[in-house]
Amino acid sequence: MRAALDPATIPSPRPAGWVVDQAHVLSIAQIAEINRLGDAVHACDGAEMAIIVVPTIGGGDHRAWAVRLFNRWEIGDRVRNNGVLIFVAVGDRAAEIVLGAGLDSSEGRARSDRVMRDEMLPRFRESENAAAIVAAAQACAREFFDVHFTPAAPTAAPDPAMMLVEAPDPERASGPPPTRPAKPTTRSAPASTTLHGSRSGLPVAVFAGVGVLLLGGVGAGIAVAASRPRRCGRCGVTMQKLDEVADDQHLSQGERLEERLGSVDYTIWMCPGCSAVEKRRSGRWFTRFSACPQCGQVTSSDLKTTLQHATEWSGGLVEIREHCEHCGRTHVYRRSTPRITRSSNSSGSGGRSSSGFGGGRSSGGGSSGKW
Ligand SMILES: [Zn+2]
Ligand SMILES: [Zn+2]
Repeated sequence: MRAALDPATIPSPRPAGWVVDQAHVLSIAQIAEINRLGDAVHACDGAEMAIIVVPTIGGGDHRAWAVRLFNRWEIGDRVRNNGVLIFVAVGDRAAEIVLGAGLDSSEGRARSDRVMRDEMLPRFRESENAAAIVAAAQACAREFFDVHFTPAAPTAAPDPAMMLVEAPDPERASGPPPTRPAKPTTRSAPASTTLHGSRSGLPVAVFAGVGVLLLGGVGAGIAVAASRPRRCGRCGVTMQKLDEVADDQHLSQGERLEERLGSVDYTIWMCPGCSAVEKRRSGRWFTRFSACPQCGQVTSSDLKTTLQHATEWSGGLVEIREHCEHCGRTHVYRRSTPRITRSSNSSGSGGRSSSGFGGGRSSGGGSSGKW
């Protein structure tokens, strides 16, 4: 049965971006955010992550439709076949994650299953369609390409006099900061414009702020807003920003280490009226450090060693050594990498597809979901 909507009629988003939203689900800020994520993925071995959102395909099989679009666009590098397509037909309540042949392994499918099950379907079921799509893009970038920001970690009992403030850091416009959903927080105005709950604790809300930041022309306006003196929540007096040296007295050992490693930035504001202290935490999106599962500080990094290179004929093996500079936790494990597959449809020269994607192929692996 032929779908009423023909994949051939969907224009490629390349080179302008990575997302086509014919259902008008995503805000301009969210599209900008996903495009930025797509650029970061692309910087990783020419990998490509595309997102297509349609109202309906008008009947027919969603999986087959999405795989056809993938292979029509030729997503991913033509040799590595490291493309991912996130497909959503909002009106059909159907979603698909299609993997390029190079990512299509039992492990790759387990990852796309996780993204579908944990990030997408629960949000779609609550009609948080845009949040589901942003979370899917974010999770695929993380799961398949190690492109991630650092979700902030829970830390030991906070000083009750401290209010934790989270906001995008305009000086590091490269990404949204981590949030700490468990703490009572005060958000700066730009970040609070669109607040969606985020099951995983990832800062969906902050996407809105960063999107605005991107749209706002290098974020000059917000830079002013973020450094503008704030008023004390208790007594209303204008607070003062402490310098770096004075800052340190208000940071734990782990927080000081985070700052030194450059994974998180802290700004301390003090109220001259009542001596209340406000700690402002802003993470960096692209840091090589991630939150340590043991101590929670963003001080853990990975060292990857290739034990066996993947070839066209066999998969490879990588050893990953996680080490936390704060608590010393070390965790070593191995991960298999997929065989390199060569695209059969591209000629050997250059290899870019006419759609503007890299010439990658999918053999149809990935995950499907309905809600
Ligand atoms: Zn005060
Ligand atoms: Zn640790």
